[in-house]
Formats: sequence, C-alpha cells, structure tokens
Amino acid sequence: MARLSRRSFITAVAAGMLVRGAPACAAPPPYRFRHGNFDLTIVSDGHLVLPVSFLALDAPPAEREALLAAAGQTGAQFNSPTNVTLIGAGNELVLIDMGSGDRFMTTAGKLWENLQAAGIDKAQITKVIFTHGHPDHLWGALDEFDELLLPNASFYVAAAERDFWSGDDAMRGLPAERAGFVTGARRRYGAIKERTVLFRPGDELVPGIHAVATPGHTQGHVSLSLTGGDGLLVGGDALTHPLISFAHPHWRPAADHVPEQAAATRMRLLDQLATDRMRLIGFHLPYPGLGSVERANGAYRFVPAA
Ligand SMILES: [Zn+2]
Repeated sequence: MARLSRRSFITAVAAGMLVRGAPACAAPPPYRFRHGNFDLTIVSDGHLVLPVSFLALDAPPAEREALLAAAGQTGAQFNSPTNVTLIGAGNELVLIDMGSGDRFMTTAGKLWENLQAAGIDKAQITKVIFTHGHPDHLWGALDEFDELLLPNASFYVAAAERDFWSGDDAMRGLPAERAGFVTGARRRYGAIKERTVLFRPGDELVPGIHAVATPGHTQGHVSLSLTGGDGLLVGGDALTHPLISFAHPHWRPAADHVPEQAAATRMRLLDQLATDRMRLIGFHLPYPGLGSVERANGAYRFVPAA
C-alpha cells in the first residue's frame, strides 16, 4: 500500500508540473502503417547518447569520420534513436521490445508516455517479444518500483538469449563497464519469469510472425519476420546504423558481443533484404526506422520509407 500511495503522489506531482507548464515531450508522433494483415505503430522510446568510437572500433578513423561527416554526424557523440514496434494482429496487440525504462539514460525511457499519447493503454498489450537482453530493449519491463509494467502480457524470450544472460559466460564475455548489463538483465528476466514463454528461431509466435535467428549482436539475438507482401523484418539490433551497417557491414560496433558472427549475420540479412525486397524496421535507424535495402557500391544502402 505504501508503494501505491507513493506512486499516486508521484503521479500527482507529475500532473502538477504539467499544469505549471513544464515543457511537453518533443517525441515524434507515432508512425502507423499497415502490412499484410497487421496494423503497425512505431513509437519512440527517446534516444541513446553514445560515443562515435562505439560505432566501429576497428574502422580506419579518417574513413569513419569522413563517412559520418557526409551524413552530418560530427562531434564525439551521436544520438541513436530507439524505435519500438507495436503490432496489431487479430486479437493480439504485440510489442517488440520494451525500451530502456527509467534507469539507463535520461534521454530514453519515453515509451510509455509516448504510447499513452498515441491512445494505447498498457492493459491492451497481450504479448511482448524481446529481440535481445540489452538495457535499451529489456529494462523497460520494470517500473521505478521494480514492478511489472504490463498487467496482461505474456513475455516471449529466445531461449538462447536467456541462457546466455543467466550463464557464467555473460560475466566473462563482457567488458567490466558492462557488468551492470548482466545484473540488470537477470533482474528483469527473473521478474517476468512466471509469464515467460521461451522460444527458438523458426517458431511462429503469433500467426504470421516468425522468430528468425540473427545472432552476433548478442548470443541469442532474434529478429521477427512478418508475412504479407514481400515481407517485413523487425530487425532489432542486427543493423544499427543507417550508414555503417549498410555500407561497411564488416566494421565492428562495440556493442556486438560476437563481432564475427554479427558481421556474418549482417551480410546474410542485407543480401536477403535486397534480393527479396523485404522491408525493414531497425530499432536504432532514424525514426521511424522503416525502409528497404538496395545494393550500392559493392555493399548496400538503407532507403528510408519516411
Ligand atoms: Zn539496442
């Protein structure tokens, strides 16, 4: 009860601040479109602020800087958008990933207020499918009191991904400054355990939505493939940067856990997306992150749809 009253108090304070004219959130409006039998809404969770060197540790710095400068990305840091996909599928309302929550970066964790602004109630969401266990995708599962945010949802977690974060290799395989990622992931996976459905790549999680193995960014990273038209891939973090991931898929972003495997996954996906003319939603591509892939200059190019 104490928690409830504290929550009510905080809500009231937040409401009071709005009345007093605190600046409104400058979130982009939700991006809605139809694909096959699905109604999709892309909602922003805000953005991450990351060091530019994070983009490609082993890339020739001059080449990397020239590429980024051509795209207007200068300076030591860059903003990485975070696009969460919501799918209306028959009677199901399916969220792909849950954003950062309130304990990762102050620029992120805006998903719930942006969903509410889009007229979507948390109680309507029936399923959550996680692409992987990084903070910006998983930590939004819990609120500021470590309570589950969604009252009615089941949580679909790739078995290999949960095994990785639960196992001893998680601590051994990550740099020391990311040790918090492991405890953070374990806390969230533990909190959703009673309502978790484990799955494997190839499984159909909702009619017309299949899990696809896209490992490397993390050990058990998956994407989601939607039937209809030429297909649509919700790619999670398999392709994270609008230039580097497409023009230089072999460069190694610092966030990839298994760099060689991540590069091989990018090459395979890019070939498939370009050949099959599948559309792509990238979690970190420029909002709303929807587009297609073309071959260009011996590599590839991302063509935004909006
Ligand atoms: Zn991410």
